[in-house]
Amino acid sequence: MNFCPECGSILRKGIIDGKEYLVCKCGYKELLEEDKEETQKKVEKKKKELEENLIIVNKEDRITVNLTVDRVCPECGHNKAETWQEQTRSADEPSTTFFRCLKCKHTWREY
Ligand SMILES: [Zn+2]
Ligand SMILES: [Zn+2]
Repeated sequence: MNFCPECGSILRKGIIDGKEYLVCKCGYKELLEEDKEETQKKVEKKKKELEENLIIVNKEDRITVNLTVDRVCPECGHNKAETWQEQTRSADEPSTTFFRCLKCKHTWREY
């Protein structure tokens, strides 16, 4: 139920020039269609925000997936490296395992 902001009476739906309005007996009227579009825009904006948040969450997930393994760094000989896998080129090929030395940050890969 909508009330008139001018006099507080209940607004009724009416058609003026082919457009839907909420009208009051005091002469106040507001366009209904514009309100609908405005609501639709807000809903779409909210959806977009949610999708963006989802992508950010996924990125964080990928970072935490990196494991620390015993692997000797070819650069400095340190024996701890973090590892992760990446799908390269086509999905048919096996994924590549990457290692990054925890000490010197040297990155290398194994197939
Ligand atoms: Zn009124
Ligand atoms: Zn190293």
